[in-house]
Amino acid sequence: MYDVAIVGARCAGSALALMLARAGADVLLIDRTTFPSDTMSGHFIQPAGVSCLRRLELYEDLVALGYPSQDMMTVDFGGAVLSGKPAAMPDGTTQGFAPRRFRFDPLLAEAAVAAGAELREGASFVAPLLEDGRIVGMTTSGPSGETSIRARIVVGADGKRSRVAHMVGAGQYDACEAQCCAYYTYWENADVASTRLFVRDGLFAVTVPCGDGTTFLAVQWPHSRFKEVRSDIDGATRRAIASIDWLAEHFAGARPVQRYVGTGDLDTFFRTASGPGWALVGDAGNHKDPITAQGMTDALLDAELLSAALIDGLGGRRDIDAALADFGQARDRRSIPMHRVTIDLARLIPPPPEALAGMAAMSADPVATGRFLGVMAGSVPPDEVFEPPAQQMAIT
Ligand SMILES: Cc1cc2nc3c(=O)[nH]c(=O)nc-3n(C[C@H](O)[C@H](O)[C@H](O)COP(=O)(O)OP(=O)(O)OC[C@H]3O[C@@H](n4cnc5c(N)ncnc54)[C@H](O)[C@@H]3O)c2cc1C
Repeated sequence: MYDVAIVGARCAGSALALMLARAGADVLLIDRTTFPSDTMSGHFIQPAGVSCLRRLELYEDLVALGYPSQDMMTVDFGGAVLSGKPAAMPDGTTQGFAPRRFRFDPLLAEAAVAAGAELREGASFVAPLLEDGRIVGMTTSGPSGETSIRARIVVGADGKRSRVAHMVGAGQYDACEAQCCAYYTYWENADVASTRLFVRDGLFAVTVPCGDGTTFLAVQWPHSRFKEVRSDIDGATRRAIASIDWLAEHFAGARPVQRYVGTGDLDTFFRTASGPGWALVGDAGNHKDPITAQGMTDALLDAELLSAALIDGLGGRRDIDAALADFGQARDRRSIPMHRVTIDLARLIPPPPEALAGMAAMSADPVATGRFLGVMAGSVPPDEVFEPPAQQMAIT
């Protein structure tokens, strides 16, 4: 009998397994895939996520992966360009990192195993085991067939299309249909020294230097254009580059060196975070458009909240179901404000002229700029910068 069985071993699942195993819990972590492997995702970890990795004593390992720290960030709205260091996290962290997922996810999974978690790769969650209305484990399938596993709690960290969420009947709320489609790839010979985001009418782009001679470039278009973009991704991307002077100049002579990856499956939702014997973490519990690059950071921070609840519940200090219900509320309190900013930005409607004028004035003030950039970094609450509800990118 395990204390916790976790389905999905990337950002959310491995981080949770690591935290629980370090606290002495008996943890099983399964993933249907094997590692190292890539996944469809950009890989920008916000300073709030880097702070979490510091708390997990993984900062040195993150740096050792060899990806440059992203110290400066620029958000270019056309009529206003805000550039600088985001406001610092309480521990002083101002920088993000953008490690490729096939390097970063195994780092977390290996740390979880080193802490005592059992990892089974190539094992798929099939169904929960149910007794008296409570989840008491799960069946999995793998190379050696189907296995029944008993656990006090089953956690779905199995991503957006979570089978765990589906099988336990987790409800959805705060949902919004996909507003964008997104495609990205890696370019050689681009001249990009730091992270830059571009917000235009009907277009968003972000570029990040990877430190290995390649540059990440992701472009987002309105979802209504998904079919057209998908039919000629390279052409649509090159037209996007040509339409933004800075990109046209810095990608002149650059060429993509990997295939384009992307999707139109970018709807936003929260799922009920827990029920009798189960909980959800990461994308399984809260999915959003990648335009604000919050998913990996949210996965780490939600794993931290969930591990605290589980440690209390498993240790008998609190009723475990009540602790898990509180986790859900804490998750929502933490993430809903940014979730709304993300929905606003994904409308791909540039700020109105008065907001642009405010931003242009702000760009001369490094402290105010740092606070603006701190919203995305996770160091400044959105309602301290945007009028709640953040619908017009109006500055307070
Ligand atoms: C185009 C795009 C760009 C993005 N860019 C960024 C970015 O720059 N920064 C950022 O923070 N976020 C970004 N995201 C979001 C980010 O990818 C996710 O938020 C993040 O991966 C969530 O991590 P997770 O651990 O919850 O889930 P996932 O990374 O989806 O991992 C889920 C795991 O569960 C496993 N699994 C699924 N079903 C089963 C099953 N039945 N049995 C066993 N295992 C199972 C899968 O194999 C997988 O390994 C982007 C997303 C997209 C689509």
